[in-house]
Amino acid sequence: MLKVTNAILSARDASLAIGGRTILDKVNLDVRPNEIVTVIGPNGAGKSTLVRCLLGLQPLTSGEIIRARGLRIGYVPQRFPLTSSVPLDVRRLLSLTLRPTGSEIDAALTETGIPHLKDASVSRLSGGELQRALLARALLRKPGLLVLDEPVQAVDFMGEARMYELISGVRKRHGCGILMVSHDLHMVMAESDHVVCLNGHVCCEGGPIKVQQDPEFAKLFGPAAARMIAAYTHHHDHDHESHDHDHHHDHDHDHHGHRH
Ligand code: ADP
Ligand code: MG
Repeated sequence: MLKVTNAILSARDASLAIGGRTILDKVNLDVRPNEIVTVIGPNGAGKSTLVRCLLGLQPLTSGEIIRARGLRIGYVPQRFPLTSSVPLDVRRLLSLTLRPTGSEIDAALTETGIPHLKDASVSRLSGGELQRALLARALLRKPGLLVLDEPVQAVDFMGEARMYELISGVRKRHGCGILMVSHDLHMVMAESDHVVCLNGHVCCEGGPIKVQQDPEFAKLFGPAAARMIAAYTHHHDHDHESHDHDHHHDHDHDHHGHRH
């Protein structure tokens, strides 16, 4: 029987084997409208491959990918093939597949914080600037779903925080679902509604707090990672300098006490 779901994108028992090697093993995943779903997992876990399967770029060996009818997807791949021999400015990068107007380009670049780089050469952009340009390009599709494969990998720590803020803001402004891949943990967890821990198969999944308490998560990333996230989600929840008067604070201590 079909599961009733309002998901805009789903994987149902998605499996992929290449050359006899299992890359994805019965992966189930749903992204719903206006939801941030983050796939985390170590290098080689199959995260990028899963994304490519979800986008229909890589056929499955078995299982099923279901995309909502008419869903527009904006995709920022992990690696963008750039050849520095071909001169390309940001404005042209944004016009490669679509025909946006000048003001649409301006709006997209303003939203991603790089309006001043419209005429800059793409090959000269920093890692973070390139990610912002590619995000602007994805936004021009007016996506119902934004797919970001390791959006902060080439970004320094401060840039990372701003990038996640930007992504979170995009979700609010555009009301689109977001599927994000990351191998780093702390910021991702706090911005996500649902976290899927992948290592070929889905090791564990759920809300950020549930996942970081899962023994499978600790197995995959180590107990130190779980503690780091506990600390981060704590600070994130209590951003208003009221730590001493907040009952959640005690809960967090209970949690630590329980853990040790
Ligand atoms: P992640 O994004 O989690 O780091 P990937 O999805 O890029 O992992 O890769 C998962 C595994 O699948 C890796 O071992 C990679 O070598 C392998 N893989 C991915 N695509 C192919 C392919 N087309 N042919 C053979 N192996 C592949
Ligand atoms: Mg990858």
